[in-house]
Amino acid sequence: MRIAFLDRDGTLVPEQPDDVWSTLDRLDLIPGTTEALKSLQLLGYELILITNQYPIGEGVLTQSRYDELAQGLLDVFTDNGIDVLDVFYCPHARGDGCDCIKPRPGLIQRALEKYPATELERSILIGDSDSDMELAIHFGMKAFALPGSAQAVIHPLVNRVETLSDVLPQLATTTNDSPDQMTHPLQ
Ligand SMILES: [Mg+2]
Ligand SMILES: [Zn+2]
Repeated sequence: MRIAFLDRDGTLVPEQPDDVWSTLDRLDLIPGTTEALKSLQLLGYELILITNQYPIGEGVLTQSRYDELAQGLLDVFTDNGIDVLDVFYCPHARGDGCDCIKPRPGLIQRALEKYPATELERSILIGDSDSDMELAIHFGMKAFALPGSAQAVIHPLVNRVETLSDVLPQLATTTNDSPDQMTHPLQ
């Protein structure tokens, strides 16, 4: 099973100052997001969100408000024919010393425990922060860096893109991560 691990804030929805999240009625998608996610699905990727939500642990976003916003986002995906397999989030404060705040490995470790058929060498991670890239590198996973601190990370596994939809042509032309139907072109 191949997974596209997706950061949420700054990747699927616009980044906000930490104290603004609690004032939002809903999460709007960055334009082009639903089309890009549909294309990833068509290429055979299961979609898993991995997101740091330290505003919960730091008291600027309540758990119930987070839950409402997160469910609203999933509803938008469902309405657009996008199946998100799962969401793993870190609710801890930055100073808590937890093992799941990116770039620590906990969120992906939990995903691997829940979905043991995951093939990391065929999976990808997309994010806008250097912590996303560090996490991908830790697991040896191909990564795509959207504009943000992610693009400062220089590593053979890290590919820079300008938008989420720019990931797709790169997948189609990369042998290691080519779509299933292109893996054996001679058959
Ligand atoms: Mg982000
Ligand atoms: Zn955590």
